[in-house]
Amino acid sequence: MQYVPSTVALGQWTPLRALPGGLCRWRGRRGADAVALTFDDGPHPEATPAVLDELDRLGLRATFFPLASAVEAHPGLVHEILGRGHEVETHGHRHLHHLGKGPRWVAHDIRSAIEVMGSVGVRPRWYRPSYGQATAATLVAARAAGLETVLWSSWGREWATERPDEVAARIARRLGPASIVLLHDSDAFGSPGMWRVGLAALPAIAEVIARRGLRAVTLDELVPA
Ligand SMILES: [Zn+2]
Repeated sequence: MQYVPSTVALGQWTPLRALPGGLCRWRGRRGADAVALTFDDGPHPEATPAVLDELDRLGLRATFFPLASAVEAHPGLVHEILGRGHEVETHGHRHLHHLGKGPRWVAHDIRSAIEVMGSVGVRPRWYRPSYGQATAATLVAARAAGLETVLWSSWGREWATERPDEVAARIARRLGPASIVLLHDSDAFGSPGMWRVGLAALPAIAEVIARRGLRAVTLDELVPA
């Protein structure tokens, strides 16, 4: 599966950053003394509980962006995430490329994701499109559905390495106040077992967060409504 981080690269330089009303967010607000750790693509019967245990052990809180199709298969894991003090948002219903898809397709995917999340008691505020492909159609459809689109400022690229230290170092390079960090509690759309690499990188990531005088909070806490 090809991972296309199109808009992340885009986010470094395009006028998208300056779109009126902040159509898309890459980081928290200026002056924050915290970061948000986020996990995409779950829930996964093995990965999600393992990530939750490690977050507990390290005293970190995080925000999960589950895929509605996976939530339908494992609804109990969403309750587990919430019960352990984390936040749950939405990664859409189907994990498909948005590039080339029209507003109607995206709007339908978002609406059905909201419905599935509602069935497990979650009313998402944030939406992260598959592969970070925040196209114009995506941004418009998300806003019409009352969601705020969020990407990330720092990521592990866990699918590209088997070394947790590389994942931690990559995140550390761009980690500072108001960072939004992307990791995964699944390997469904990357490389087999990649969540284990991200999981093993968590202690080092926690250490960097603490060393830089920051805290790990949920996305809602990092960016109050
Ligand atoms: Zn994803």
